[in-house]
Amino acid sequence: MKKVEFEKLKRPETIKLPSMLDFYPLEDEKNTRISPFFSNLKERRLTTTRCEECGKVLWPPRIVCSSCFSDDLEWIDLGTEGELYAFTEMRLGAPLGFVDDVPFCIGIVKIGGLSISARIDNAKYEDLKIGQKVQLKVVELDDGRVFYRFDAAKETP
Ligand SMILES: [Zn+2]
Repeated sequence: MKKVEFEKLKRPETIKLPSMLDFYPLEDEKNTRISPFFSNLKERRLTTTRCEECGKVLWPPRIVCSSCFSDDLEWIDLGTEGELYAFTEMRLGAPLGFVDDVPFCIGIVKIGGLSISARIDNAKYEDLKIGQKVQLKVVELDDGRVFYRFDAAKETP
């Protein structure tokens, strides 16, 4: 498995958790039935659920299939390398907690047969290209919760 970059993020001190403005979900087994998504992410694995009845891959991960309503789901790995399908740059109006990061890039990444939206780190908007490879990047809040972004990889000629 490829090594995935890990970055520690600092939550603004003005935000008390959990609160309505905290857009990172509670991730533990007690609070969500998709807690494996977060525990897998802590192991640098981007995963989701696939229906064992009809085979549909569900994103975001779910506890019931949105197609056939079966709750017979399995966890699958999506891989760690995606392809940039579309992107833009956030220049203003960023959500709380991201205001200091402006400008930053966000995009739609094709990975594991899915198209998912995420922040794209370590690239300027003008340097990004549709179709370029991006790598999974796991970021951790200072309370231990994790989320994912993608890191723009250097293109090989
Ligand atoms: Zn199904």
